[in-house]
Formats: sequence, structure tokens, C-alpha cells
Amino acid sequence: MKLRNKVALVTGSSSGIGRGVALGFAREGADVVVNHPGGNQAAAAETICEEIKQLGRQSIAVQADVSVEAEARELCRAAMEHFGRVDILVNNAGIAAASPVHEIPVEQWDRVIAVHLRGTFLMTREILSQMYLRGQGRIINTASQLAYKGAPGFSHYTAAKGAIISFTRSVALEIGNRGITINCVAPGATRTPILADVPPDLLEEIRRGIPLGRIAEVEDIVPSYIFLASEDGRHYHGQCLSPNGGDVFL
Ligand code: NAD
Repeated sequence: MKLRNKVALVTGSSSGIGRGVALGFAREGADVVVNHPGGNQAAAAETICEEIKQLGRQSIAVQADVSVEAEARELCRAAMEHFGRVDILVNNAGIAAASPVHEIPVEQWDRVIAVHLRGTFLMTREILSQMYLRGQGRIINTASQLAYKGAPGFSHYTAAKGAIISFTRSVALEIGNRGITINCVAPGATRTPILADVPPDLLEEIRRGIPLGRIAEVEDIVPSYIFLASEDGRHYHGQCLSPNGGDVFL
């Protein structure tokens, strides 16, 4: 077990990659705070908590919109109150919206940037303060291969993901050698609910463009998070791992 007795907080872990990371961490011995934004995600989050408990680990589900300062703070407070510390923060919560740039409503632009970028900032700010006190911790942010490739119709999404990579590098320099690492994972196209609205012919085109010839499953992505969260990843700092089937070379 690579994460025995660690406490992890995974944002947006009621579905997709976040769910996979939460369960993957629990299988490696971690207790997990499952975050969800409410609505129809609440029941899914409770189910994941139960699955984690069946693995012999502790888990709580906490509703919070990570883009709202007070809610991000409350999420961290709930985690601290229940577990006393957070060893691993995974910033994963995300949304996607497609629109040509000349038609993006300002509200849509702001929402996409806020959930990804402001949420990552707010959660990092809250958790980093207590990690500094303990002199240890792991922060893993979720970027995307589209930060490198770009994607027509997704200028806000790709701008947010590129900014998350830059944010990670700057924070890595700020943290220095305080015993805490911060890194990114930049997944390639992965079969999750976020791709639900992508037309099948476009998905097939994406698949054909991937040298390994397939869209990733969540299980293809989770090991990068486990690696960065574990002792094995101790010398990675300010980096970005790219499980993408060879779609982008860095
Ligand atoms: P998903 O829709 O299954 O997961 C996103 C999760 O974030 C959901 O559980 C959702 O409820 C939650 N969420 C949304 N807004 C939130 C908010 N304001 N506060 C808290 N939680 C919120 O999709 P996914 O593919 O698993 O996406 C997870 C992350 O991976 C996202 O950051 C996404 O951009 C990134 N990503 C996905 C792909 C892909 O192809 N699936 C590729 C690269 C990166």
C-alpha cells in the first residue's frame, strides 16, 4: 500500500477521474474526503463514501462549490475537523463548455475559469497553510493535454488548464524545500461524463489521432495521481505527468 494512513481530499470526486482517484487512493490505504457540488452529485458522492468504507478506510462526503471562497474554506474546515489534517490535496473539479470564442458569453467564460482556476487557487491556498505548519504534503492539480494542444471551441477551458500548469510551477518555486510537493496531471481524452456531449464521430476522430489507438479509461489515468501522491513521487515538483496515449509529446 502506497498511501497507508494518509488523508486525501479530492475535489469533484463524485464522478469520472475524481471518483477513480478517490477509490484508487483508498485501495492504497488512504482515508478520503469526497467533494461534490451538490444536486444530483450528492447521492453519487455518498455511494463512493460507502465503497471507500467497504475497503476498510474512512470517508466523508462534503458538498462545496470549489470556486466560491467561503465554500472552499468550509470544505477544508470540514476535512480538518473530521481527520485533523490533509496529507494529499487533489484539485480535480471541472466543467466543460463548447463555444467559438467570438460567441462565448462572459458568464460562461467566467464560470469555466472559476471552477478550474479559481477553485484550484482557493483550495491550494487553504490547504497549503496547514501543510506549511506540518512541513509535509502533496498537491496534485488536474490540467489537460488540451493545455498544450489547444482545441477549437474550448478557448476558456484550455486557457484555464494552461494557467493551472503555470500556477503549479510558480507555487512549486514558492514552496521550495518545505517538504511539500505540487505537481499536475494532464490527462488525454478519457471516457467520463465530461465527454457525454461529444458527438460519436468527433470521439472517433480523437481516438484515431491517439498513437495508442484508444480513448483512455479512468484506470489509465489514476496511477499518475497515486505515483505523485506516494513516496515514489518524492522528487517530482512543479512537473506535469501526461497520461495521453502519445497524443502530445512534451
Ligand atoms: P466529470 O464530469 O466526471 O468530473 C468532474 C467532477 O467535478 C464532477 O464530479 C462534478 O460534479 C465536479 N464539479 C464540477 N463543478 C464543481 C464545482 N464547482 N465544485 C466542486 N465540484 C465540481 O469529468 P472528468 O473527466 O472526470 O473531469 C475531471 C477533471 O479532469 C476535470 O478537471 C477535467 O477538466 C479533467 N480532464 C478530463 C479529461 C477527459 O477527457 N475526461 C481530459 C483532461 C482533463
